[in-house]
Order: sequence, then C-alpha cells, then structure tokens
Amino acid sequence: MDVLQAEFILGATKPEHFPASPLPEVAFIGRSNVGKSSLLNSLVRRKNLAHVSSTPGKTQQINFFTVNSRWMFVDLPGFGYAKASKQEREQWAMLARDYLQHRKQLRLVCFLIDSRHDPSALELGLIEELEMIGRRFAIILTKKDKISSKAMQERELQLRDVTQFCQHCADIIPYSSVVGDTRANLLAIIKRECAC
Ligand code: GDP
Repeated sequence: MDVLQAEFILGATKPEHFPASPLPEVAFIGRSNVGKSSLLNSLVRRKNLAHVSSTPGKTQQINFFTVNSRWMFVDLPGFGYAKASKQEREQWAMLARDYLQHRKQLRLVCFLIDSRHDPSALELGLIEELEMIGRRFAIILTKKDKISSKAMQERELQLRDVTQFCQHCADIIPYSSVVGDTRANLLAIIKRECAC
C-alpha cells in the first residue's frame, strides 16, 4: 500500500475520450487551488505526476492515471476559478457532470475542500448533487497544516453537520500534502470503496 506506481494514461476533453478500462476509478475534484495536484502527488509520492499550478484553473481536461495496475485515479479539472470565462465554466460543468453522472467504473469521489474556509455555495451545491445522483464521496479537508487542530476539529464538525443526512458520504478526512500523516487513512478508504 505504501508504494503506488502511477502512470498517466490520457487527458480527456470529451466523454468519447474516456478510456475503456475496467479498473475501479477514484475521482478527485475541488475548486481551483484547493491543493488537488499536491494531494495526488503526495498520494503517489511523486513530485510531478499532477502539475502543481501557478496559474489555477488552466487545465480543462480530465486526466486518467492507472495506479498499481489496480485502480484508476481521475483528476477532474478545478472549478470555480474566478478568472475563468463563462464558456470555460460551462465546458467544465458539462464534462465533469457527464463523468460524474454516467461513468460506470467510478467508485469514489474525493471531494477536496480547503480546511481554512467555510464551504462555498458552489461546494455545498456539489455535495448535494453527489448525494442526489447517488455517488459515494469522501470529503477531504486540505491544507490542514495551515490551521490549528482546534480549528480543524471545528471544520470537521461543520462538515459532519452538513452531511449528517447524506447516505453516500463515505467519510471526512483532514489532509496535508506537506505533512502526509493522514495519507494512510485516505488510502484505506480508497481501498475499501474499490474492493469488488
Ligand atoms: P490545485 O489547483 O487544486 O491543483 O492546487 P495545488 O496543488 O496546485 O496547490 C495550490 C497551492 O497550495 C500551491 O501553492 C501548493 O503548494 C499549496 N498547497 C497545496 N496543498 C497544501 C498543503 O497540504 N499544505 C500547504 N501548506 N500548502 C499546500
């Protein structure tokens, strides 16, 4: 479990490009700059598997990576970038929605939320959407090294409250790509949810 061999397969800009692979998929989603690329890199212990962006919101494609020839990690483009055009936002919504609603191989959505801020209306809306379409999801509270453990406890309670009636919320996990102390917890959830 400790060593993950990850290999980039392809970047899809249209649903027709999604790979025809039977591997169970784990998708990573969150607003721009939430720390998604850093989390992916820390999970597979590679510096540059997913590109840590200096200009957020640039990649409008869904990237697929095989992991240990056993799972597929799926990096959905960051949403809610303030400078993105209306057209870019709509393109994001269409591609991501298509993937989230229809992808048969998808077993778990890791929804990243920055632990330093209250979840935005957009983020609360996406939790509701995942619940409504019946997708298993885990909430990952990112950048936990940037706040006190008390503030993190409060954030976790807040999200537990938000999801208290959700049937499809697998878990809520604080995460730091810098410290990595909860990496094993996240991997355990992925392993559990992808078990066939
Ligand atoms: P993305 O746009 O969601 O892929 O976010 P990135 O992974 O590119 O991260 C955005 C910024 O947050 C970068 O400057 C990262 O170095 C920083 N960052 C990401 N994760 C963490 C974390 O866990 N702790 C700290 N301190 N900084 C982080």
